[in-house]
Amino acid sequence: MAYLVSHPDEVKVVSKRFGMGATNLDRYLELDGYKAVQKAISMGADAIINEVKASNLRGRGGAGFPTGLKWSFVPKQSAKPKYVLCNGDESEPGTCKDRLIFEHDPHAVIEGVMIAALAVGAKSGYIYLRGEYRYLLEIMEKAVADAYARGFIGKNIFGSGVDLDIFTHSGAGAYEVGEESALMESLEGKRGIPRIRPPFPAVVGLWGGPTVINNAETLASVPHIILGGDEWFANLGTPRNGGTRLFCMSGELERPGVYELPMGYNLKKMIYDVSGGMSKGRNLKGVVPGGSSVQILTADEIDVAMDFDSMMKAGSMLGSGGVIVLDDQMCIVRFALRVTKFYQHESCGWCIPCREGTDWMKKTLTRFHAGGGVAKDIDNLKYLAENMLGRTFCPLGDAAAMPIISYIQKFRKEFEDHLDGKPCPYEKAAEAALV
Ligand code: SF4
Repeated sequence: MAYLVSHPDEVKVVSKRFGMGATNLDRYLELDGYKAVQKAISMGADAIINEVKASNLRGRGGAGFPTGLKWSFVPKQSAKPKYVLCNGDESEPGTCKDRLIFEHDPHAVIEGVMIAALAVGAKSGYIYLRGEYRYLLEIMEKAVADAYARGFIGKNIFGSGVDLDIFTHSGAGAYEVGEESALMESLEGKRGIPRIRPPFPAVVGLWGGPTVINNAETLASVPHIILGGDEWFANLGTPRNGGTRLFCMSGELERPGVYELPMGYNLKKMIYDVSGGMSKGRNLKGVVPGGSSVQILTADEIDVAMDFDSMMKAGSMLGSGGVIVLDDQMCIVRFALRVTKFYQHESCGWCIPCREGTDWMKKTLTRFHAGGGVAKDIDNLKYLAENMLGRTFCPLGDAAAMPIISYIQKFRKEFEDHLDGKPCPYEKAAEAALV
């Protein structure tokens, strides 16, 4: 997949320094680097938070929670140290955007962490990278070391009187650690399983101190908001959904890749125009618009704006921005099995509905796809998934259940076509097309 692609409709904000050598600190400075943090110092904490609130920046990790509001939950006074934690544990299937930010613009993440720390009064920031992104650790470690060497982080940053340390950390390869409380457990050196909440991290987070946790794309957006202004950023998107989004387009497309488009950009246009439409003469079957954990949309449901609220109304979610396009030769049952295998493997096993539910779904779908399905399996699968919803400690249970329910609701006939010992009819068609 060619990650660095371009299209005239793109609005490059977070990606504006991609491919411009901004890993080099001098180059980053030439490209307006570290100007935003200096401006933020002159603004003060309350003004930073108000600016980010008014920009309508919402969390880019998937949940879409308003960033400024999240920061405002951190108590001004705290007996314990406060922290900022950058969530770079990007693991949602179909999503490959944060890696580009770390790879091409690491100082933007550092600057975002610094501004967040100024806003909430933190003296330490952590950048947690996905274990599989080992090569990015070297890039981030060098960027942090360069910023220290220049005196940008450490004691008395930019003469502000504020001390701020930033550390990098690599995970050990667990999807579950992308959940913010599991992320904190992992960073503290413990097994990466979620915490029971409340209390929420803004009040009791890392080592018991108030902690702001934001996704890497969210933090990398912040310096642009400070320099460009809240109004400019908010107006790039739709009401309540400010700015742009890095969308990861994958599947049988003519031009797959990561595109930065305004929030609210039309999904159909994103597929047929920006990504060049379907390749190899394939037709569109369905779209998973926000990473593998969200509900599928059929080919008739994609004329919709890609923002958090519009996608909710359309019956799915914007999620992580990973747009997975399924063509007419993709078997939905096989896709369901692939998705379920992932969540079964990644379940931390703490709660029964997730641990047992994903395992039973995997077993059923494996047998079903191999031609051993019986009619009642279809409703049993749906029943199983529905009984996981809302009954787990963290969102992984929902993430495993929601897609399966939507596949059965919208593509039931494909499940029925596998019954009576028939081999998968869709893969037969795919094989025939290859001959
Ligand atoms: Fe662990 Fe799954 Fe329960 Fe989350 S939902 S705590 S991953 S068992």
